[in-house]
Amino acid sequence: MRTTVQVISYVEKVVCDGCLSKDGTQTEATETLNLGDRSWDLCLEHSVRFSRYLADALGSGLPDEETGPETEAEDVDAPSAAESEDPTADEDFADYVSRITDSRKAFKGKPLKAGTQAAQAQWSKHRERLASLPDKERADYVKWCAAEGKDVRLTASHVEFRGFMWANFPHMARAYADAMRGRPQPHQINSPEGQAA
Ligand SMILES: [Zn+2]
Repeated sequence: MRTTVQVISYVEKVVCDGCLSKDGTQTEATETLNLGDRSWDLCLEHSVRFSRYLADALGSGLPDEETGPETEAEDVDAPSAAESEDPTADEDFADYVSRITDSRKAFKGKPLKAGTQAAQAQWSKHRERLASLPDKERADYVKWCAAEGKDVRLTASHVEFRGFMWANFPHMARAYADAMRGRPQPHQINSPEGQAA
């Protein structure tokens, strides 16, 4: 006998508490913030914003990793006058040495000297990395730049983005680095971990 039954299914979706309380928007959450027995789900934009508040108040609180110290580079916003035209390689390099410090172990945290080969080499490695970002990282990077007021086209902005991610969301930074190396990703960066399976 053929009959018709009604099937109701419930899908659990984790939405950002920040967006929800702001204007009721249901934005997919990518991160969970836990404090004591309270917990909030946050989208990338809100997690960037709130971790900045916390980092301002409490310091970064996490061990350095790879590009970590580069976040301590001076927070100089790109000049807005230059935003109409793409920065040239020379402009990009000049901006880079003003914002990013030496990443070599023996010189860690020291200013980069614009005239040196070491500075050129570090910059060109990072410039190539920015040019070949996988889509997922690029999307996150663009959102982060918008939230932080950085120029997405400048190599230094991406180094600061990676440094921020290493300091605050090391599992995502790890996934970016692995995706770029073409390795199988230990975390599925497209599906938030807090999401119900
Ligand atoms: Zn949000």
